[in-house]
Amino acid sequence: MRGKLVAGNWKMNLNVPEAVTLLRELRESIGELDGVVVCPPFTALAEAGRALLGSRIALGAQNMHWEDRGAFTGEVAPGMLTDLGCRYVILGHSERRQFFGETDAAVKKKVAAAWKHGLIPIVCVGESLAEREAGRTRDVVRGQVAAGLFGLEAQGAQNLVVAYEPVWAIGTGRTATEADAQEVCAFIRSLLADGFDRALAERVPILYGGSVKAANAAGIMAQDDIDGVLVGGASLSAVEFAAIARAAG
Ligand code: PEP
Repeated sequence: MRGKLVAGNWKMNLNVPEAVTLLRELRESIGELDGVVVCPPFTALAEAGRALLGSRIALGAQNMHWEDRGAFTGEVAPGMLTDLGCRYVILGHSERRQFFGETDAAVKKKVAAAWKHGLIPIVCVGESLAEREAGRTRDVVRGQVAAGLFGLEAQGAQNLVVAYEPVWAIGTGRTATEADAQEVCAFIRSLLADGFDRALAERVPILYGGSVKAANAAGIMAQDDIDGVLVGGASLSAVEFAAIARAAG
């Protein structure tokens, strides 16, 4: 039985005092709920970890390097995230793919590194508008799942979350229909069954992301193969994010 997961991707928003304020508000409203993750920017992780001590809200990062250490200016190692109390890390977000040239091959190395360090990767996949309109959604998602994950040790996939995030729905206010989101999430599960094994695929939480808000979260999460949501913009509002988290209950 898969539980629901609601993850907030704060992106490059909120300084430390703002982060602490938001977390205080979230602790008060949903601190006792399981299956909630917040992913602040790197600069707020340490303080966020302290602000969350004693609550059930888990901490995640938005990216990391795959190496343990070394001459990689500007990068952050997996062990640096676990040091700060991170349990999750978002990998392969479309903004990283689009603006920072993150490839499936890099995602794969990062996933392996996350597992090695006991982090749960939230691996993002999804098609652009042009790809959807060209009827290429399945090809694109298949390619990203296969190149980003297949060939890794199946055992590791016990600690895997996949997020289906159609690029055209991110930050645009356009959400995939519940049926479209369910269809692609079910397709991702079938890919995981082929690439790893069926029993394992049944246990992998698959999230939908793309303009999720309190008003549409429950309907999206009611779909058979959608085990939660990855929330960008709405995760910056305590009221909205708490309502989404409660909709998962
Ligand atoms: C995201 O960036 O992961 C995301 C889903 O953003 P938004 O909710 O703002 O569309």
